[in-house]
Amino acid sequence: MERVEDLAEIVAVVRRDMQAHLGRGRVADYIPALARVDPGRFGIALVTCDGRTASAGDAQVPFSIQSISKVFTLTMALEKLGADLWRRVGREPSGSAFNSIVQLEREKGIPRNPLINAGALVVTDALLERGDPAALIGRIADFLRLQSDDPSVAIDAEVAASEADTGFRNASLANFLRANGNLHSAVDDVLRVYFNQCALSMTCVQLARAGLYLANGGRDPVSLARVTTPVRARRVNAMMMTCGHYDASGDFAFRVGLPGKSGVGGGILAIAPRRAAIAVWSPGLNPAGNSYVGQMALERLASLTGWSVF
Ligand code: GLU
Repeated sequence: MERVEDLAEIVAVVRRDMQAHLGRGRVADYIPALARVDPGRFGIALVTCDGRTASAGDAQVPFSIQSISKVFTLTMALEKLGADLWRRVGREPSGSAFNSIVQLEREKGIPRNPLINAGALVVTDALLERGDPAALIGRIADFLRLQSDDPSVAIDAEVAASEADTGFRNASLANFLRANGNLHSAVDDVLRVYFNQCALSMTCVQLARAGLYLANGGRDPVSLARVTTPVRARRVNAMMMTCGHYDASGDFAFRVGLPGKSGVGGGILAIAPRRAAIAVWSPGLNPAGNSYVGQMALERLASLTGWSVF
């Protein structure tokens, strides 16, 4: 295992090497509240399985985790339903956009995987099961507070409202799922939870800490609490590797070689099994919707550490 000063140096080198690229890519603007974020931001945090943290840049600045929340709701749903979840959602890369409707129609309302929007809506519905949306929003936020070991993690109400105002595509997906019998709760209730989970605001340090159980076989290595089983942690990692970067998941595996999940807020959570969880944030996105500089940074980190799983 690398020494702590090496880790500090590694994140410092990554940050230095990204300097010339800051501001590249396009900030997501289809959610108006996200469009205001400064594209020149960059943060990186790494938390190891033996509890050390190294960070650089804007690692303490909260950002909208967006689709990265899908990793955590998937963990919660697997804990609740076990393998039965896979009756309602597949586990193949989609090969199409994260919010594609065409594929869902062709495949009769069974989303390709839990990390595209349609799949995440089914996962959220499985957690909701006709219950109280406000209570579930609270449970998801509490899960992130517990895993990040930081009670200050909060939902950005403005982002959630902005997303609800413009979420016509997600509403279409939810209605379509409902029409196919693969959404059991009221469409508006599922959407409300989904928009709020996406609007969780976290820093790179909090996010890396929150994902640490995935690097450690489902057990938080610091608190020693069992978050999920080793098999389920492996399943979540497999989904991240094959489906975590929209239609560019293969490219991420090729370049970085770590399970990862990106969000349109410009964050990426990556897992180096048995070693560390890493979070990066830079708001400018590449054409596939993944953080332009964030992906470059993880590629650099993987080459400096040799942490690719391949
Ligand atoms: N809340 C966003 C949406 O559903 C999440 C997209 C993402 O980060 O991939 O459109």
